[in-house]
Amino acid sequence: MGELNFLTGQTAYLMARATEAGRIHRITRAQFRRLLATEPDLSDILLRTFLARRDLLRDGPAARAIAIVGSELSAESLALRTFAARQRLAHLWLDPDSAAGRALESITLTDNSTGHISEHLCRGLFCLIGARPATEWLAGLALDKAGFIRTDTQLNPEELGAIWTALGRPPLPFETSMPTVFAAGDVRLTSLKRVASAVGEGASAVRSIHTALGPGA
Ligand SMILES: Cc1cc2nc3c(=O)[nH]c(=O)nc-3n(C[C@H](O)[C@H](O)[C@H](O)COP(=O)(O)OP(=O)(O)OC[C@H]3O[C@@H](n4cnc5c(N)ncnc54)[C@H](O)[C@@H]3O)c2cc1C
Repeated sequence: MGELNFLTGQTAYLMARATEAGRIHRITRAQFRRLLATEPDLSDILLRTFLARRDLLRDGPAARAIAIVGSELSAESLALRTFAARQRLAHLWLDPDSAAGRALESITLTDNSTGHISEHLCRGLFCLIGARPATEWLAGLALDKAGFIRTDTQLNPEELGAIWTALGRPPLPFETSMPTVFAAGDVRLTSLKRVASAVGEGASAVRSIHTALGPGA
């Protein structure tokens, strides 16, 4: 449905997904034309489908195939836009004097392993460049190679040392290699790096703090 080539005879490959049980009828182009001529209701539905599809193409990525860049005050860009409108060409118009015209249009990516360069149309760019914990100053705590703080079960019992032997207990949840020093949130090794989990870890660490500092500690 909605394929104009059925009328024009051009070859097209079509993929469809049936969402309800039904039947598929295969008919020739001549039969299809006859149906359109004799069944005004069906013909109306199909025409509306073609129009809807054209609107979809006009608003979709296909519309970006032709881009006219020019100020709305420029006679040349007006001539180009008038031509595109008359020819009913789906196109994108970018006015460099407007806020939209100054927005990002595309990015060029270079694959460092192959040197392959490709351009991708896009209107926004979010750059996530990884995390580096600011723990250089925490020399006394057990950290992993990247500098994240190791806590509780991430600490190797053999390397905990005499201070823990004297204390007579293993590190509590969120407790670092230094007794009564706790770590929660992004800086902690294997934490989820999310706001909700950082807040949750902080709240959970309070329980350990009570245990470590409370009566009987
Ligand atoms: C770009 C970006 C987008 C994100 N988007 C999302 C999202 O959509 N949803 C989500 O859930 N999470 C998101 N996150 C992750 C989220 O921000 C973190 O998981 C969360 O903020 C961790 O909280 P935190 O308290 O552990 O650390 P932080 O929020 O980093 O707080 C640590 C604080 O300690 C301070 N500090 C550091 N060193 C010292 C020092 N020596 N002395 C004193 N203060 C110090 C820092 O200045 C900072 O204020 C995003 C993170 C980034 C970077």
